[in-house]
Amino acid sequence: MPKIAIVGAGAAGLLAAGTALEYGADVTMFDPNVKVGVKLMITGKGRCNVTNNSPIDNILANIPRNPRFLYAALNSFPPNEVMELFEKLGVPLKTERGARVFPVSDKAQDIVNALSKYTFGAKLVHERVTAINAENGVVCGVTSRDKSGVVRKHSFDSVILCTGGLSYPRTGSTGDGYRIAEALGHTSVPRLPSLVPLEADRRLCSELTGLSLRNVTLKIRNNIDQSIVFEEFGEMLFAHFGLTGPIVLSSSAHLRDMARGKYTAVIDLKPALDEKTLDNRLLSDFSKYINKNFSNALGDLLPQKMIPVFIKLSGIDPDRKVNTITRDERHLLIRLLKNFEVNISGFRPIDEAIITSGGINVKEISPKDMQSKLIQGLYFAGEVIDVDAYTGGFNLQIAFSTGHLAGMSAATRY
Ligand SMILES: Cc1cc2nc3c(=O)[nH]c(=O)nc-3n(C[C@H](O)[C@H](O)[C@H](O)COP(=O)(O)OP(=O)(O)OC[C@H]3O[C@@H](n4cnc5c(N)ncnc54)[C@H](O)[C@@H]3O)c2cc1C
Repeated sequence: MPKIAIVGAGAAGLLAAGTALEYGADVTMFDPNVKVGVKLMITGKGRCNVTNNSPIDNILANIPRNPRFLYAALNSFPPNEVMELFEKLGVPLKTERGARVFPVSDKAQDIVNALSKYTFGAKLVHERVTAINAENGVVCGVTSRDKSGVVRKHSFDSVILCTGGLSYPRTGSTGDGYRIAEALGHTSVPRLPSLVPLEADRRLCSELTGLSLRNVTLKIRNNIDQSIVFEEFGEMLFAHFGLTGPIVLSSSAHLRDMARGKYTAVIDLKPALDEKTLDNRLLSDFSKYINKNFSNALGDLLPQKMIPVFIKLSGIDPDRKVNTITRDERHLLIRLLKNFEVNISGFRPIDEAIITSGGINVKEISPKDMQSKLIQGLYFAGEVIDVDAYTGGFNLQIAFSTGHLAGMSAATRY
């Protein structure tokens, strides 16, 4: 019976452990956390968007980094099999907008409980692994340290490294996996935050802090070549540091080399109205408020918090009577409503990111079985690898598929 160590009992580790057990292996999971699946508990705002119910082509299209590396893993355990597994483990699922899959209960806890059930029979050691040991290029075990500092060496035939990335370190993902793999000769691609809030024009954003915009279109413009690198309709939020909310997080995965001033967020505050309709709307609002000052005529069109900022940007005197606003000034207002610009200055820190971009170099891992090309018997799964995806359940699908393939391969290695 092959003896397998799983380093990290997160999404990838639990799937790897369960799969290896199904293939008859003797499995030990290491994780210093008191409970397993700590990060899983906070996924999807506590609802856990467990996968995306769509064909593999669509999953690959939502993975901007190294999608081809994941082809075999995704085929070995595609979304429909992830869904079947959870249903079999007693968690009914539902598919929502954008093919996002959640437990019917809307409770991430049910997913964690199901994975605990799936890994029944694996030993769980609440110790931090500090090294993976190898002799002559072949894995022979791990070294771990308990909370009181006692160091232990354990023998194993294979080790699956699934320690996650660097984001939300309080869940246990503190970047140990990179150091452990690097000590064995692996290299890692520099880590960057992805699916992360954006730092932006502080003066503007602090005036708008707390304002949530629903039903807007966010575009991100690359100011170097004027190209639009991202465009999505949805919800976003102003924070004291800049921008956040679902479409802002999604946009961050499309931004690279965040040099100051390279990107501008261009918000269409009225995406449902074309310029002509918007002009008619302005004319009708202005005739309704004909005897009011300009500053008191925008309440039907804009959230209250935005009006002073908007007026400042328009350069129109707020005390002017609406009936004195010229056609050109109305067109300026339309341009502002359709292109409200906020300059982006950087990403928020990686510990606030949903996902870590970068990680163990995929060139050093065999895509067909997730085994290291440098050390026999060493496997990788999950976010520790240099792969990441957009929001929509794709990141957990990556963790589950790579975990499954690594678990199966390690258990059937001999
Ligand atoms: C707020 C938030 C919401 C998210 N929501 C979603 C979502 O709805 N859908 C989705 O698809 N993705 C979501 N993600 C991303 C998803 O959670 C990750 O992609 C996924 O958890 C990665 O799984 P993993 O097993 O690789 O890493 P993790 O789940 O981070 O697990 C790594 C484990 O390794 C352990 N570990 C670390 N170092 C050691 C060591 N030295 N020894 C032993 N153990 C160690 C850690 O304690 C941890 O338990 C979300 C992420 C965040 C932060």
